[in-house]
Amino acid sequence: MSEDQKPVKFFEPPVYLSEADIATRVRELAQRINETYGDQEITAICTLKGSVVFYSDLLRHLKMPVVCEFLGVSSYGNHTESTGEVKVTLDLNEPLTGRHVLIVEDIVDTGLTLSYLISYLKVKNPASLRTAALLFKPEALKSPELRIDYIGFEIPNRFVVGYGLDYAEKFRGLPYIGTLN
Ligand code: 5GP
Repeated sequence: MSEDQKPVKFFEPPVYLSEADIATRVRELAQRINETYGDQEITAICTLKGSVVFYSDLLRHLKMPVVCEFLGVSSYGNHTESTGEVKVTLDLNEPLTGRHVLIVEDIVDTGLTLSYLISYLKVKNPASLRTAALLFKPEALKSPELRIDYIGFEIPNRFVVGYGLDYAEKFRGLPYIGTLN
């Protein structure tokens, strides 16, 4: 085999949360969300891009009617230091007035992004506003008033990738959550 025919070996980050761990926890979160809303229709907002995998898995376990909305957000600054200033890169399609809204987030680190999103959505007069985050780093939290209604896993203050989460747009497709040093 010549050099250019050899398959490229990509770096595989060590597993922190396995596919099975994630699947079990996502089902548990969905069950709690089902208990909260019963048959009430909700608008579930997926924050792009990192939440896309979590969102699509969660959605498939929700039993109430769900209107799917996507909100493109990117934090100013870099991954290691969030400024809390968020740029909306793709806005919602439908008004939220009178809707029961669930924000679905991949990870809450300082909490500044989710706090910003809550203020951004509150002024759209939803009937209720709740938040779900797959991952939460309590040690990094800078918004003590932040309420997360459904938390998948509390994790230490380490940089994680996979299951939608990237490092410089890489690793989003990993089926598990791994750590980068
Ligand atoms: P915040 O600090 O505002 O809570 O989080 C800002 C954003 O930083 C998150 O939505 C996420 O995109 C990114 N982020 C924070 N911690 C991590 C991490 O450990 N891994 C990855 N891939 N992104 C992170």
